[in-house]
Amino acid sequence: MIFSPLRTYLSAGHNNSDPGAVANGYKEADVTKIIRDSIAENSSATDMVLDKDWETNRQYQGRIKPGSGSVLLDVHLNAAANPTTRGVESYINKKDFADKNSMSSKMADEINKFLSITLGISNRGVKPENNSQHSSIGILNLGAGCAVLVEVDFITGKDAVDNILKNKDIIGKGIAKILKKYDDMK
Ligand SMILES: [Zn+2]
Repeated sequence: MIFSPLRTYLSAGHNNSDPGAVANGYKEADVTKIIRDSIAENSSATDMVLDKDWETNRQYQGRIKPGSGSVLLDVHLNAAANPTTRGVESYINKKDFADKNSMSSKMADEINKFLSITLGISNRGVKPENNSQHSSIGILNLGAGCAVLVEVDFITGKDAVDNILKNKDIIGKGIAKILKKYDDMK
C-alpha cells in the first residue's frame, strides 16, 4: 500500500475552552465541530488530519506540519450585529490572494460558490487575511500549498445555524469532494 505524504488538514475553528461567537443559543465551536465531523465522515481520504476538540489553536498549529503539497481548511462562522446579515466568505493569505490562479484562490472560490448555492445565501467572496480583524491569520501561513479559512454563514443570522444543521450531510459531502480534488492536484 502506498501512503500519500500529501495530507489534508481539516479543523473546526475554536475549541472547548474558546467558544468563538455565541448567538441564537449556539456556540460557534459546537457548530464548526459538527461541520468538520460531517466533512470527515463523508471523505474517502485516508490521510486526513483533524484537530482535537480540547486543543487550542496554538497546540493544533504546533502539532501539524503542512507541506507545500498539503491542503488545509479551517471552518468558522461569522458574526455581525444585524441578524439579517448572511452569506459565506473565505480568507486566504496575502501571497495566495495576489495570485488568482493559486490553489488557495481557486479552492476558496469553489467552496464559496458551493456553500452559497447549498445554503441559499450570498457569496461574499474570497478575501485576503488582512481584510479580517487580524493583519495575518496564523493557520493560513503554516506552509500548506492550499490553505483556506471559511466563514460558512453568520451565527448571528436568523435561522442560519438551523439551515446549516439541516444541510450538514450535503455540506459534508460537497466540501469533502472539493478537498479531495485539490489534494489530488497538489
Ligand atoms: Zn471563528
